[in-house]
Amino acid sequence: MSRITRRNFVFSVGALSAATSVLSWPALGQAKATGGRVVVIGGGFGGATCAKYLRRLSTDIEVTLVERDSNFMTCPFSNAVLGGLYDMDFNTHDYSALRDEYGVRVVHDSAVDIDPDAKKVRLAGGSTLKFDRLVVSPGIDLQWNAIEGYDEAASAVMPHAWKAGEQTTTLRKQLEAMSDGGVVIIAAPPNPFRCPPGPYERASLIAHYLKQHKPRSKIQILDANPTFSKQPLFEQGGQALYPGMIEWVGEADGGAIDGVDVKAMTVKPLFGEPQRGDVINVIPPQKAGAIAEVAGLTNDGGWCPVDQRTFESRAQKHVHVIGDAAIANPMPKSGYAASSQGKVCATAIAASLSGQDMPDPSYVNTCYSLVGPDYGISVAAVYRLGEDGIAAVQGAGGVSPKDVDSSFRVAESRYAVGWYQSITADIWG
Ligand code: FAD
Repeated sequence: MSRITRRNFVFSVGALSAATSVLSWPALGQAKATGGRVVVIGGGFGGATCAKYLRRLSTDIEVTLVERDSNFMTCPFSNAVLGGLYDMDFNTHDYSALRDEYGVRVVHDSAVDIDPDAKKVRLAGGSTLKFDRLVVSPGIDLQWNAIEGYDEAASAVMPHAWKAGEQTTTLRKQLEAMSDGGVVIIAAPPNPFRCPPGPYERASLIAHYLKQHKPRSKIQILDANPTFSKQPLFEQGGQALYPGMIEWVGEADGGAIDGVDVKAMTVKPLFGEPQRGDVINVIPPQKAGAIAEVAGLTNDGGWCPVDQRTFESRAQKHVHVIGDAAIANPMPKSGYAASSQGKVCATAIAASLSGQDMPDPSYVNTCYSLVGPDYGISVAAVYRLGEDGIAAVQGAGGVSPKDVDSSFRVAESRYAVGWYQSITADIWG
């Protein structure tokens, strides 16, 4: 099926996570603001957290959350849906608590333009919202046609499933319809992209499903990167749970693809022969959500430079960008990181609206990945602001140990579920 020479057999999962975010400023209440209007665009991990925590800091701040969808479906645990462990109800959250318990004004509409000088946001529905501070947390958009032939229409045939919802369901149905002995291709994009362990967790949980229902099938990961997040742990887990089922082709061996043919159901590696798959999951290169670009918040790479103390945009005063759209290296583009940034940003805005200095922030990320339902692995990090921006605190956090007995992996798989339940309750509950 290909001329790719070296094949590494992997097995496992990656996902993200950890429980609640660390807020290291002295106390949330110290930054109490006396008023002001804040508009937040995007009700995902970053935006919904920021909106809620602004109201927790001060009920005098009017907070309007603009979110195009009435329910939010999380990408975390969407790989578990693909693996048949959960259905999409598990991943779906609404905005009633933000609205009814925290007094956030929730507007279901799309922001189509931002006038930073007039401090206004224009909505697709025709109305305009005025703000004193604006938070932009639109997540990612996909770079259509960065891979030749891969546009929005092609994603109906070769789903990306990198935004949870209909795309997740489409990919799941394709897996269910595939015959035993079929080949699933997962094409992973070059860094930076949303959820660095996501493609490998996906391969692992799809393998979990195939092992039970279509055990002669194979998964091939074509990777534009030379290495990947938690690689030794994923490989060890994959070998333990799905021996021979998952093949990883790294960048050096032709893993990067530059074209697709939806009719032939092939992907074209940068070098080597086209690869045919029965189910093809193309995860294309990414950039900040479109509204960030429209508002002039992005750099040439498509991401948003920010002051990492406050997440205020380097391009527009009084406009803050958090989550996947922001440049917050070395924090990964994860839901946990977005939520942690949402809390820091809420504090910075509350401090600024009340004329106080922003305390020194700290930030946190934990990332659980499920290699199988009873096999979890994780990585965690704590960050502080250094002279050159956000920096990991040495000795804080780390990855799961490699050689442990199965009870350790079982415990981490339970922590992964606990992480999900606690962070979603913290944000939308
Ligand atoms: P999002 O959460 O995507 O929220 C953006 C919101 O903005 C959306 O609701 C969108 O509708 C809205 N929006 C965008 N533009 C507009 C507009 N113009 N007007 C109105 N609304 C708008 N992270 C983890 O921490 N742990 C995990 O286990 C994990 N697993 C993952 C698994 C997969 C398969 C994937 C793809 C990702 C995973 N992630 C995980 C990453 C996580 O989903 C993202 O990092 C996180 O959602 C980023 O938060 P955000 O606020 O930047 O964007």
